[in-house]
Amino acid sequence: MHIEIDHISMTYQSPDGEVEALRDVCFSVEDRSFVSIVGPSGCGKSTLLSILAGLEHPTEGEVRVDGVPIRGPTEKIGFMPQRDQLFEWRSIWRNVLLGPEVRGDNTKERREMVRTLLSDYALYAFRDSSPSQLSGGMRQRCALIRTLALEPGVLLLDEPFSALDYQTRLAVSADIARIIRQKGKTAILVTHDISEAISMSDRIVVLSHRPGTVRAVHDLTELHGIGPMERRGSPAFQKRFNQIWEELDVNV
Ligand code: ADP
Ligand code: MG
Repeated sequence: MHIEIDHISMTYQSPDGEVEALRDVCFSVEDRSFVSIVGPSGCGKSTLLSILAGLEHPTEGEVRVDGVPIRGPTEKIGFMPQRDQLFEWRSIWRNVLLGPEVRGDNTKERREMVRTLLSDYALYAFRDSSPSQLSGGMRQRCALIRTLALEPGVLLLDEPFSALDYQTRLAVSADIARIIRQKGKTAILVTHDISEAISMSDRIVVLSHRPGTVRAVHDLTELHGIGPMERRGSPAFQKRFNQIWEELDVNV
């Protein structure tokens, strides 16, 4: 699905006054492409995802999905949160079926589809396990399958790997990127990790400090078709890293 973020501004009204979170943000996301948004903490990344998910209404501008403005939450858009939010009292099977159950769509076809997803991604043998019996990577895959079970065209991911240790994070992010591409989904990932963004994406949008404005847009054409792990360490990777590092203007 093709997404247009068209002159989005967002100002929150809070008891202490106004908070300008985003200012005049414009970029687009091509169908079946992977776009990352990087920016310093507090610059409005989660706000932007909430707007994309239809959970918040921008003060100005609009977001269109295949030309249709977003007015509220829609089934076309799936969300993968920061923590995997698997329920310990439910088996893996019942965790991934949660969405269809809540939606009243727990049909034979749906269950068949979820079963295929679990076996394609090496989780079927764990269908009766509880989440705590799975590794961090498996839990993350399970969370992704739960989102995919509702067949969204667009996936929104808000720092989904931040709870994982560094090594696990490398492997899991590569794994998740592969599944998302295989399934032909359009994905938008929010991260503050430049390396993660370069390893997974087709395009990177760099946001400034709050209020978030678009500092730069990088099309990673030179890395097209190269897997996440192979990208890391390549000269092209290093070059992009340095550019984005400069743009982020990190102060310590
Ligand atoms: P990020 O995800 O980039 O860290 P956020 O989108 O969470 O940033 O927040 C951007 C700014 O908007 C922050 O200053 C935050 O405190 C503020 N903010 C976020 N949500 C609200 C809200 N519901 N009400 C008031 N201010 C908010
Ligand atoms: Mg955030």
